[in-house]
Amino acid sequence: MNLILLGPPGAGKGTQAKFIVEKYGIPQISTGDILRHAVKERSELGLKAQAYMESGALVPDDLVVSIIRDRLTWGDAAKGFILDGFPRTVAQADALAVMLSGASMAIDHVVSITVSVDELVERVVGRLTCRGCGRGYHLKFDPPKTASVCDVCSADLYQREDDREETMRSRLDAYAAQTAPLIEYYAAKGLLRPIHGVGSIQEIQSAISSVLAG
Ligand code: ADP
Ligand code: ADP
Ligand code: ZN
Repeated sequence: MNLILLGPPGAGKGTQAKFIVEKYGIPQISTGDILRHAVKERSELGLKAQAYMESGALVPDDLVVSIIRDRLTWGDAAKGFILDGFPRTVAQADALAVMLSGASMAIDHVVSITVSVDELVERVVGRLTCRGCGRGYHLKFDPPKTASVCDVCSADLYQREDDREETMRSRLDAYAAQTAPLIEYYAAKGLLRPIHGVGSIQEIQSAISSVLAG
């Protein structure tokens, strides 16, 4: 099963991706995680991407498209994958379509998670991220068992630089201008599976499970 998780920052893409990984045994491919890792390592990719990410803008299409082009050739993606945070522009979606058809692959579902702006801001400003495995937590809505420590890998949790309210507003603008058009794009292809993203993490999981089983 080949999936795209679509939604604004804070919609719950990463959180829901973790459960889909466990349930279906397919890898989560998060361009945000890959880019943050590159920034941390100060690789060529990281140096090119850093300023865009810190300002809340999207990283140029050619950089993220080449990340995905490479990642989809790994053996684990042959049985399916979850794209989390990619594509984010129509140009990225077009590049993905060309890539997949060249490999005789196709997207099965585009799970589009919607949440009101006020709730997105509350989620993002309270988000904690694991430095080791990238798992997201929330101070109030999904706290770790031990404060500041990842339940999964025991690495420490931090607040992402771009999760401050000011930068979050720029990211929401980037979403509205550049990513929201993908809702129509995938609806026109018959692939869109809209999910109302408000409710407990468990409730959203069940809604996604029904759609994927459907
Ligand atoms: P969130 O989970 O809050 O939506 P991500 O971790 O997916 O955020 O992305 C963080 C930042 O990484 C984005 O604001 C953007 O700068 C960059 N980024 C991630 N994915 C993409 C992409 N597909 N295209 C362009 N920029 C991206
Ligand atoms: P995205 O990957 O779309 O940016 P995340 O999955 O990282 O979003 O979720 C954003 C924040 O909201 C995290 O702190 C997460 O713990 C929290 N969160 C995720 N789903 C829910 C939910 N259904 N209710 C409340 N908080 C949630
Ligand atoms: Zn961790």
